[in-house]
Amino acid sequence: MRATFPHLLHLDVALGILYPSLGIEIVPPPPITQKTIEIGVKFAPQNACFPLKVTLGNFIEAIERGADTIFMVGGVGPCRFGYYGQIQRIILEDLGYRVQFVLLDHPRYGVRSFLSALRAMTGGRLFLPEIVRVARLSFAVLRFTEELEAHRRALRCQVKDPQELDRVIDGTIEALRRVKTLRELEALKTSTLEKLDALPRNGRKDFLKVGIVGEVYIAQETRVNFNVEKLLGDLGVYVHNSVSTVEYILHTFRPLTRSREKLEAWELAKPYLKRFVGGEGIDSVGSTIRYAREGFDGVVHLYPFTCMPEIVAKGVLQAVSRDFDLPVLHLAIDEHSGEAGLVTRVEAFVDVLERRKQEKKRGLKRNGSLSRS
Ligand code: SF4
Repeated sequence: MRATFPHLLHLDVALGILYPSLGIEIVPPPPITQKTIEIGVKFAPQNACFPLKVTLGNFIEAIERGADTIFMVGGVGPCRFGYYGQIQRIILEDLGYRVQFVLLDHPRYGVRSFLSALRAMTGGRLFLPEIVRVARLSFAVLRFTEELEAHRRALRCQVKDPQELDRVIDGTIEALRRVKTLRELEALKTSTLEKLDALPRNGRKDFLKVGIVGEVYIAQETRVNFNVEKLLGDLGVYVHNSVSTVEYILHTFRPLTRSREKLEAWELAKPYLKRFVGGEGIDSVGSTIRYAREGFDGVVHLYPFTCMPEIVAKGVLQAVSRDFDLPVLHLAIDEHSGEAGLVTRVEAFVDVLERRKQEKKRGLKRNGSLSRS
C-alpha cells in the first residue's frame, strides 16, 4: 500500500509520523501550488466547494507520484461535505485511476464501516499499544504545529525581524518530522520556546488585534487563503485564528473526545444561531462573539465562495457586528480570487480599524478632560 491524504496546513507532518510507524508507506502530495488548484478545478464539478477541488488536485498529483490508496475523512450534512469523498472517488474512477479510496466516517454512521476503514488506515491492526503510542505522538505533534502557528501570528507584529521568527518556526516544523518519542517532542518544545523568547522585540505594545473565523480548510490553509495571517502580521496586527484541525478532530469523534473550544463557541452563538447549519457556521458566530468580548478590534471571516454554512454565518455576523460594534471583513475565496484584490481589501480594513482605534482614544481623552473640568 502506498497511501496519500489531502494537505491541510501541517497535517502531513503528523501523518508522516503516524503512518510509517504503522508500516504504511506514504506518498504525500506535493505542496499546494497553482498547478494543484488548476488540476482540481479542471476535473471537479464547477459548482463544487473550493476545498473539494484543491484536495482533488492533491490526490491526482499524489497518484501521479505513485500513490495507490487515498485516506480521507467522511462528513455529514446539512452541507455538501457529506458527498466530498464519494464525489472524489467517482471522479478518480472516471479518469481511469485505479486507487483504493478509504473513507473514515464517524462510527455513529456505521460501526462496521468505521472499523473496516480504521483497520485499513492502521495497517490491519487495531488498538495495539504501539498504535496508541504513535497516534498519541502524532496528535501531540499536530497540536504543537498549531501552537507554533499561534506564536507566529501573535509575535509577527512584536519582533524586530519577522523573517527570523519564520526561520525558527519553519525550522522546528521540519525538525518535528524526525521526532520519535514524546520526550523528544518535549525537548524540542522547550528549545523552540526559548528561541522564540530570545527574539529581539520591536518595543511596540499598542497594536490592533484581529481574530480569524471561518470554514476549517480556507481559514487554515495558508497556501489557498493568500496567507492572510502573514499579511495582517506584516501590517503590524496581532492575529489570532479560532479555527483548528485539532479541535475539529476532537469534535468529530465526540463523545469519545470533546472540544472545549467548540462547545464554548456554540454556547456563545446560541442567542443568534441555535441550530447546526453544517461545517463551522456556528463556530464562526460564537468565535466572533468571543473576540468581541476579549476586546479585539476586528474579525476576518474566511470561507469558500458558495459555502452554505458560512453564508448563513455571514448573515448572522452582520447582527453580531452591529450589536458588539465589531467590524467584520468577509472574504470569500475560490479559484477566481486574486491576490491583489484581497490585499487591497485587507489593507483598507486595517486602515479602518486603525482610524477607529485612534478615534476611540481621542474620545476617551476628551471625556477624561471633560470629567476633570
Ligand atoms: S463547509 Fe462549506 S466548503 Fe465545506 S463542504 Fe460544507 S459547504 Fe462545502
